[in-house]
This record gives sequence, structure tokens and C-alpha cells, in this order.
Amino acid sequence: MVFNRKTYLRMWRARNPDYEKLRWADLGKRVKRYACHRRWVIENRERVRVYLHNWYLGHREQQLRWQSDWATQNPGKVRATRARRRARELRAASDQWSWKDIEKIYARQAGLCYYCRIELNGVFDVEHKIPLCRGGSDRLENICCSCEPCNQRKSRKTDEEFSSVLASEASSI
Ligand SMILES: [Zn+2]
Repeated sequence: MVFNRKTYLRMWRARNPDYEKLRWADLGKRVKRYACHRRWVIENRERVRVYLHNWYLGHREQQLRWQSDWATQNPGKVRATRARRRARELRAASDQWSWKDIEKIYARQAGLCYYCRIELNGVFDVEHKIPLCRGGSDRLENICCSCEPCNQRKSRKTDEEFSSVLASEASSI
């Protein structure tokens, strides 16, 4: 006989035949309680709205702290969200990408900045090769991972324009 969790459970149930009955009865009660709660929430929608609003006001600082903690821990994601919002505002064609897609691009670049090839170590910006303001899309083919300095220096340039700037800098050294 194998004494695993299942076996013990079976033995325990054999010794407590009323358990199953109780369990299902309790489940029925829980479902009923939940349905009751749902009905109350729907009937008292305005009250719930006021309550949640007040809760938010009372915990505003806590909320903001959580948000800013998350933001400082995830600077790349914050900038990615901003880039996405901008794409939406400009109605750019988008692939509706997720963070998983960005991780794939990051892996394809072997964790290096698309422009200066510096090691990113997981800290990077989601960058549009052809900027949105110049008609670039939010499609994955137009997205790369870059270091923050490159993203800022590139600004409204296209990837080709910025690459030629970097090339001429390298040749003048
Ligand atoms: Zn760079």
C-alpha cells in the first residue's frame, strides 16, 4: 500500500463518512451566500460605488506608494506602457504585443542594445525603429530593445539615421 496524500484522504473519509455530506452542504451554502452577495451588490450599486470611492480616498497614499514602488522596480515596463499608449493615440497599426513578445525580441538581440550593442542586463526601453511620430507602426517588426541613452539620443530619428550618426561618431574617434 502506498501511503501518499490520496491514501490518507481515503482512509480519513472512511473513518468520517459524514464528511462528504457536510462538505457538499457547506459548498451549497457558500454558493448561496455568494449569489446573495452578488444580488446585493447589483441592487446597491450606487452604495458600493461610494464605498469603493471612499476606500480609495482613504487609502490613496498607500495606493500611490504601491504604484510608485512597482514603477521604480519596473522602469522598462512603465516606458513600454507609455509607448503603447502613444501608439494607440496615434492610431498606429499595432500587433497588440505583450511582455512575452518583448522578451522574445530581447532574446533575439542576445540581451544587447539594438544600436550600441551594450549589455542591457534586463534594463532597457521598448523602442520603435521608425518612430511613431514619423509614421512608424507598433508592429513587432518595428520594435527593438535599446538602452535608455540610445533611445533618448535617437529621439525622432529613424533607426537608419541614428545608426549612421553612431557610425560617423565611431569613425571620428
Ligand atoms: Zn544603446
